[in-house]
Amino acid sequence: MNLEKILAYQNLDSKLYKIEKQVRESENKKTVSKMHENMKNAQERSVKLEEKAGAILAEIDKIKQQYAVQENKMKEFMDKDLTVLSKAELEKYNVLKEKLSQNLNILDKNLSSLAETINGILADFNKTIKVFNSSRDEYLKSKENYENEVKGVEKEKQDLEKQLLLLEKDVDAQTLENYKKRRKENIFPVLVPLSGDSCGWCHVQLSYANISTLENDGILTCEHCHRIIYKK
Ligand SMILES: [Zn+2]
Repeated sequence: MNLEKILAYQNLDSKLYKIEKQVRESENKKTVSKMHENMKNAQERSVKLEEKAGAILAEIDKIKQQYAVQENKMKEFMDKDLTVLSKAELEKYNVLKEKLSQNLNILDKNLSSLAETINGILADFNKTIKVFNSSRDEYLKSKENYENEVKGVEKEKQDLEKQLLLLEKDVDAQTLENYKKRRKENIFPVLVPLSGDSCGWCHVQLSYANISTLENDGILTCEHCHRIIYKK
């Protein structure tokens, strides 16, 4: 097989790989997915906060009803003519009145505490909306930047792909297939020189048997990094 051809192919392909890597590892692309995640989390959070607020508002309603009931009872008591009551009745009256007043106090405290909780939820909700909005702004900006990045290299990529296609016909078909398989997995460089008696990429030492295969075939697949080792 003609090693020179596939090495020339790889040499040209390294330019394409570099462009692809640059786009793949773009900071804008990372920001796009990070902001998308932020937006999703903010949305989930606001749904949960709404549910929580709904439950608390229902609880407040319930307590308000209880409060109204107790308050009515209290009014009935207050309207009573105390002068007609016996001493025993008056004592009973005072105990009940005390109890009602305690109940109202408890309900009042519960209401205040729930109102505080609702305020906390509202503050959290406003914060979440702010996070969502700023994430969306950054998402849109980064998305546009990323799309421009992709567009910016499109022409160069297409030119390189055309040139590579021209070189392909000179390359041994089986070698090309092996090459492309690894390239798809973003293994690059695919072909690496033998370095002493080790793989030129991962430096794993080759056995005598492997070295002799390399001598015979001209190439050998590294068992460790799966690159194709060739002898210079
Ligand atoms: Zn290796």
